[in-house]
Amino acid sequence: MSQLDVDATDLGQVTESFIDGVPVGAPEVYENIDPSTGRSLGEVSRGTSEQIDRAVASARAAQRAWRTTTPEQRADLLCRLADLIESRSEDLARLESEDSGKPLTQARNDARVCARYFRFYGRAIDSYYGLSLPLRPDLHVYTRREPHGVTGHILAWNYPLQLLARGVAPALATGNCAVVKPADETPRTAVAVAGLAVQAGLPQGVFNVVTGLGAEAGAALAAHPGIDHLGFVGSTRVGALVATAAAERVSPVTLELGGKSAHLVFADADVEKAARVAAGAILQNAGQTCSAGSRVLVHESVHAELVERIAGHFAEVTIGRGLDDPDLGPLVSRKQQDRVHGYVRSAGTGEIVFGGSVAEPEGMADGAYFTPTLIDGVDPASAIAQEEIFGPVLTTMRFATEEEAVALANGTEYALLGAVWTRDLSRAHRVAAEVEAGQVYVNTYGAGGGVELPFGGFRKSGYGREKGVEALDSCTATKTIVVQL
Ligand code: NAD
Repeated sequence: MSQLDVDATDLGQVTESFIDGVPVGAPEVYENIDPSTGRSLGEVSRGTSEQIDRAVASARAAQRAWRTTTPEQRADLLCRLADLIESRSEDLARLESEDSGKPLTQARNDARVCARYFRFYGRAIDSYYGLSLPLRPDLHVYTRREPHGVTGHILAWNYPLQLLARGVAPALATGNCAVVKPADETPRTAVAVAGLAVQAGLPQGVFNVVTGLGAEAGAALAAHPGIDHLGFVGSTRVGALVATAAAERVSPVTLELGGKSAHLVFADADVEKAARVAAGAILQNAGQTCSAGSRVLVHESVHAELVERIAGHFAEVTIGRGLDDPDLGPLVSRKQQDRVHGYVRSAGTGEIVFGGSVAEPEGMADGAYFTPTLIDGVDPASAIAQEEIFGPVLTTMRFATEEEAVALANGTEYALLGAVWTRDLSRAHRVAAEVEAGQVYVNTYGAGGGVELPFGGFRKSGYGREKGVEALDSCTATKTIVVQL
């Protein structure tokens, strides 16, 4: 049976790597644990450094022909892949929800956004040009955007479908071939999408996936001499390791790391809207979002009202298994649940206004659930105010002046997102300029999938940009050609 006859979303009991257009097993496997129930969802091949070698060699061989395809051909193939992802979005969403624990509605949205990335970059590549530079009348000077070659992608578990597509789609569109290492906990949708890519007509070897553990397959990919550009999405600690490995062989890297993003709520804000959006944003994916607005900085005159309103929203939240589509699913693992609980226990001077404990929806005592949690009045210097918790935990702090608000917002090592809540237009723009972050929202937070919006951080939130047309620049290098006329 050829790969074209196989149901790409039916991965069987063992999820295997996908190299050169076919599934490839490994000598060892590990269990894929369902965070909703604590039970096994099946086994995953523990990819080895030999598999990484094979995947890189396959991508290298495929790239020789892939880079000579026309933008129109690549555009057609990527748009066809987007169609296939859309047609299988329910199956992909269920795999995603089981692996990660996220509520089904959110997983369906992730599948939709995944398709959107392939379509966006499929369309964009048709109108991505170099420049003509009018240097001198006797010189014809122009630039070409050259693909790096083979791109590596090491991904986190929180938005597996979205992170996969936002890295791979612009890479393939610009003529690179890709090797992906999905997160240990959430490998299945990456393998399924790579299978769909072959069915869409992408040549074998253009899109490879090696499943496995970070310290094994991930480290082998980061250090591989055949990787020409590396995209990493994950923690700041591992990002630094990966960037060091890439620096050893002078390979460019994009780092999309953690965050501790702040809402700045001023006295003239629409307090109810700010409360509703801030509560919704920290509950999305159980707070396991790099861009989660995990700190609310609020003017002292509206502080009490805002805290009460957020607690009111938290009180209405349903908690349960991802596939049952509650408001709040489990965290990705029991380990993550312990980590979040540890932070909440260290709240110090902060007052736990709502939640603060593990949750046990009926019949799911082994799941990794945590209640929505609101902690008011935390010490800005404390770990809970400084470090990324990655759970449904919101901290609030008061301020009296705009300067104090901006200083608090910029007072962590991270700089990923921010939101300004005010009706004063001048203040909105002034504060948006002063908040150190890759994206700043005014009177809202997030804008759908954000496929079109350049995204990335400053400082310990990373460097380089994904998403938007800017990602096409990250996936290429400029070649300048000078012709004497
Ligand atoms: P992680 O750093 O533990 O793992 C990320 C990836 O790195 C996984 O695929 C893992 O297998 C791999 N890995 C682990 N050790 C490795 C090693 N030694 N060498 C090479 N690869 C290795 O992160 P996580 O816990 O999976 O994800 C959560 C983090 O990701 C959070 O900090 C979150 O903010 C961040 N994140 C950032 C963005 C963004 O765009 N800025 C998006 C999503 C998640």
